[in-house]
Amino acid sequence: MLAVDIIAKKRDGLELSRDELQWLVTGFLAGKVPDYQMSAWLMAVYLRGMTTAETVALTEVFLASGQQLDLSFLPKPTVDKHSTGGVGDKTSLVLAPLLAAAGLTVAKLTGRGLGHTGGTIDKLESIPGFTTDLDDKTFIQNLRNHGLSMIGAGPTLAPADKRVYALRDVTATVGSLPLIASSIMSKKLAGGAQHIVLDVKYGRGALMPTQDTARELAEIMIAIGEHYGRKMSALLSDMNQPLGYAVGNSLEVKEAIDVLQDRGPTDVRELVVALGSELMVSANLSGNQVEAKARLEQLLANGAAWEKFVQFVDAQGGDPRYLHDPILLPTSQHQLVLKAGKDGFVGQLDGLTIGHCAVKLGAGRITQDGTIDRAAGIVLLKKEGDRVRAGDALAVLHGASPELLNTVSEEATTAWTIGSQPPAKRPLIAEVLRPSFA
Ligand code: URA
Repeated sequence: MLAVDIIAKKRDGLELSRDELQWLVTGFLAGKVPDYQMSAWLMAVYLRGMTTAETVALTEVFLASGQQLDLSFLPKPTVDKHSTGGVGDKTSLVLAPLLAAAGLTVAKLTGRGLGHTGGTIDKLESIPGFTTDLDDKTFIQNLRNHGLSMIGAGPTLAPADKRVYALRDVTATVGSLPLIASSIMSKKLAGGAQHIVLDVKYGRGALMPTQDTARELAEIMIAIGEHYGRKMSALLSDMNQPLGYAVGNSLEVKEAIDVLQDRGPTDVRELVVALGSELMVSANLSGNQVEAKARLEQLLANGAAWEKFVQFVDAQGGDPRYLHDPILLPTSQHQLVLKAGKDGFVGQLDGLTIGHCAVKLGAGRITQDGTIDRAAGIVLLKKEGDRVRAGDALAVLHGASPELLNTVSEEATTAWTIGSQPPAKRPLIAEVLRPSFA
């Protein structure tokens, strides 16, 4: 085979075989297919797309490049959740202990922030000592002992995806549905959970711009998961404005603690319970969504989810004192209040601008190896639909210096559009796709 022939075939919109995909990716990993040919192929895929059969085959090739965890010997159903990324999305921090408290085994493969979207590892590492850098033995031991563990995607699970992703990042080919689907699903499948729920976000703060593209992505990922015998479902959720009020690592841990203690923002809670109920029904722990939601609400109200969270953090090296006294968590020395310029209603709160500003404040990485400021971020005080008067506080920026806060404040203020009428209400969860157990 020749790389140039495979590129030409995809350029001409033809379907590649599994053998051709295997040959190309293996050659790339071995250094026999150079970056420039892999880049040309990625662009051809970006422009021409892939059939479902090709996308499943590419996932298989990524998956086979590394190790796959077998969790089938664990006595309780194993579950995982994946979000395609958003701003202020701390759902995993609440959902994972909640489901473990409900009696599921939550084998969560997790990641760091990507661009303007946050990552669960970065958030949890705000708790001194906490790590997701576990070997398989510890991961499995924690699953046995606590029904919950989180592990970083690391070099052993789907390593081919890691190499290809790095190239996509610099060749403007990240936004290809089949490439995103095979990248995400190869890692999820390698993690070993049998029941997977996807939170596919759309809107200004998300990877997918519209509900239609989110549905398309969800359908491809569901098809891949089902091909591997996994029970799949997906929610399509609105990410035009950030989720909850806190954006930034330590700030989001504090907000997650609020929800786990039966307080916190209603949108975070709604999404957590909706995602959780999909897995409860999929794994036959509840007969239907209504029953599942009631059970999950109960576990938030009676402290069981909170207790499980403390146990989980402790088991992964985190110091539980910071959970009992969240004021000890990293906190910025400097804060700046953003104020409304006029009276009216918040018509739009732009999640992308908030995400970018949080990164500029230090909450995310500018380069892949960059460091982050765990305390930095934005606490929103007014969201879409809220009434404001000129001079009201819209948000508080948290950062390392007054200069940094000043630099970001002008752009951050543009995130709020204030109009004379309240905007039409949009649902947080627009659709649920559940082909496996409809
Ligand atoms: N997250 C991933 O893991 N891969 C993608 O391609 C996009 C988001």
